[in-house]
Order: sequence, then C-alpha cells, then structure tokens
Amino acid sequence: MRVETVAIGNEIIEGRTIDTNGAFLGRELTERGYRVSRHTVLSDEPEALFQGLKEALSRSTLVVATGGLGPTVDDLTKNVSLRLFRTALQMDSNLYDEMRERLGDLPSLQEQSRVPKNAIVLRNQIGTAPGFLFLSTEGSLMLLPGVPREMEQIFRDEASQLLSEHFPVVAKEQTVCLYLCQLSELELDPILREIQSAHPDAKIGIYPSLGSLQVQFAVSRDFDRLDQWAERIRKIFPTHLFDGPAIHEAIQRALISRGQTLALAESCTGGALCSRLVSMPNASKYLLGSVVAYSNEWKEHFLSVKHETLEEQGAVSVETAREMVEGLFQHTKADFAIAITGIAGPIGGTEENPVGTIFIAIGERGGTIDAGKIMAPPHRTSAIEFALQYALGALWRRLAYQTLTFI
Ligand code: ATP
Ligand code: MG
Repeated sequence: MRVETVAIGNEIIEGRTIDTNGAFLGRELTERGYRVSRHTVLSDEPEALFQGLKEALSRSTLVVATGGLGPTVDDLTKNVSLRLFRTALQMDSNLYDEMRERLGDLPSLQEQSRVPKNAIVLRNQIGTAPGFLFLSTEGSLMLLPGVPREMEQIFRDEASQLLSEHFPVVAKEQTVCLYLCQLSELELDPILREIQSAHPDAKIGIYPSLGSLQVQFAVSRDFDRLDQWAERIRKIFPTHLFDGPAIHEAIQRALISRGQTLALAESCTGGALCSRLVSMPNASKYLLGSVVAYSNEWKEHFLSVKHETLEEQGAVSVETAREMVEGLFQHTKADFAIAITGIAGPIGGTEENPVGTIFIAIGERGGTIDAGKIMAPPHRTSAIEFALQYALGALWRRLAYQTLTFI
C-alpha cells in the first residue's frame, strides 16, 4: 500500500513556516507500520492544489494532507476536495451544536459546520476546522487542519483509529537502530552495502550527525535478520556503540549507576558542553560543574595551568588541555574530567593551529589522561558542537569499554 503525505500552504513553500506537520505525519505513520513513499508541499492556489492532490491520489492508496481547512480567504482545501470527489457540502448540525457549546457563537461556525457529503468527519476538539476522510478505490484522502496542535490531536484521537480500520497494515515493518560514536560513515558503509546487496528488500539508512552515526535496518519479514545485522556491526565496532539516541544520556546513566562524578573545563566551547549535560533532569547526580576558562588568566587562576605551559605551548595545545584536567582533579573531587581548548574561529587561526583545531583531554582520577588533537569543521557553531560531541564520545568509550581515544 502506497501512502504519501502533503503539506498545503504558500507559507511553507516560501519558507515562512517550517513544515513540522510533514515530519509529524511521517514519523507517526511509519511508527504505525505504513510505508510513506513521498511527501509533497503544495501551494494553496486552487488549480495547483487540485492537480497536486489528483496526482498524489492516482499514485497512492492513501494521501494524508494538512492545511487550508480554516474559514479564511486562503483556505481552499475543502472546496478543492469537493471537486476531487464530485460532491457538495451539507450542514452537520451536530458538529455545529458541539462547536457552539465549546466556543460560543463564533461567526465562522456556520461555514465550518458545512462538511462534504461523502466524507467521514474527524472532530477537532481544539479549533473549528474538522478533518475529513474520503474513501475511494481510486485513492483515499485524509484532510487535517494546518495548526500543528489541532492536527496532532485529531491524528491521535480520531485519525489513527480510522486508518487501522480502513487501511490495516498487513506486513508491519520491524526496525533496529544502532548508534555509534567516533566512527565515520565511510568506515561503516562497505558493510551496509554488503548487507543491502544480499537483502534488497531491507531498508537501510545511515544518518550522520556531528560526532555520531545512527544506523537503521528495517524489514517486513524474516525479522531474525535484524539481530544478525546488529550483531555483525557490534562485532566489527565493539567499542563505538552507545545506547542512543543521545550520548550524554548514556553517559549520565553510566555515571549515576556507578555513583561517579564528572567535572569540566571548557575554553572554546564556552560552557556548551555543560549546557548539553544539564539539559537532562538529574544531571546534578553526577555533574559537578564546568570551569569556563576562556582567557589565559582564568586558565592559570582557576585551573592552575602553568604560566610556562601557556607561554611556551600556548593555550591551544595538548599540554594545556592536559593541565586543565589536572587542575580539575586538584580543585574538585571529580572521578572523571574533560577539558576542551581550541580555535572555533572564524578568527584566531594560525598556520600551526588553523581554525577548527581542538585539543581534548579526558581523565580518570588516578588513571591516564587521554589527550589529543581533533580537527573540527572550521565554522564556529559546528566546531563547538563537534568538539563537545567528540569529547562525549571519548568519555563514553572510556566509561563503557575502557578505550582510550588518543593514546
Ligand atoms: P486555520 O483554521 O487556522 O486557518 P487551516 O487548516 O486553514 O487552519 P492553515 O491556514 O493552512 O490551516 O495554517 C494555519 C497555521 O498552521 C499556519 O499559519 C501555520 O502556522 C501552521 N501550519 C500550517 N501548515 C503547517 C505545516 N505543514 N507545518 C507546520 N505548521 C503549519
Ligand atoms: Mg487557514
């Protein structure tokens, strides 16, 4: 069964509104076992909308569209649907009474209570635009309002039930997701290609983000294969896996369960690493804090980095990163420490240390300090994100697998 989704509205085409409805529907339909094959954004110009929906209906068994169901001049979806399904509007007095009770005597209620004769009406508990489901062997159409909160409520409370009644999923897909850190997609790609060519029916996706990769396998039969593929990746990259989706959550779980603590010393990331960690509730159970030592004076004063080190090796050096970690162990009781110092750019790069040069040190009290250089993308925000993700990856691999990243 082919399913596709449509977002309707000039504001989406023109980039004034981010199409979150498309993302919501894609996610929810996929979770319910539908294979969504296409998502289109259509203008609310009636002819273009008519043609776009007609094409979608000719391609797919089910089309789910959002937007343009309201009472204003630019809301034309309902009228276009009348043409598509050769029908007319009729008054739904139950709908009118329900809305009047809930919202009072709004002028738009008359119009909003006129519904296509041959559509199933999906109640909107928040606003005035109901959704509609047109069932047809030549392609069925579900229309939902554009306002995300209303659309999501209707989808969850009304639409998903109707979908499973009228469009039962025969072969529900099962998926397995693996998360890996400090690994490039090129290292993983050959194995995935091998699996794909031996199993053309499998859907394989690799989704890189700064510092980590997500790999997803999906099949609709012979589900044992999923475990075999996951096991194969585990065997080849045993020290790169983490319990995703977010590595800082995996670190938090590990440190809390061991009763251990973490301290941070941040220069070029300016507290971004700490901010990421405190975004999780319960961070106080393991995180002592961060010394954001941006200047050399602060590195000396608060982290006891030696004056000579800063003079001779520079603030952006492996020695400084290492001494920042030593300073944290000296001034706190932390079990683990991370230090980051580097050049996020766009200015400040030198021949020796161009923009994107970052030094990271990871230490365990009484153990080795694992420190080294990475090259981050030479754009300030990406460099900061990459540095903190890399540092988290290094800490995770040390916690989970006793693996040192740099040594
Ligand atoms: P209304 O009764 O509010 O007019 P409607 O069904 O006619 O509802 P639209 O007029 O298309 O919906 O959109 C209303 C608002 O909902 C838009 O201003 C926009 O902010 C938001 N919206 C519409 N489509 C989307 C979308 N695909 N993703 C995210 N937001 C959207
Ligand atoms: Mg509208």
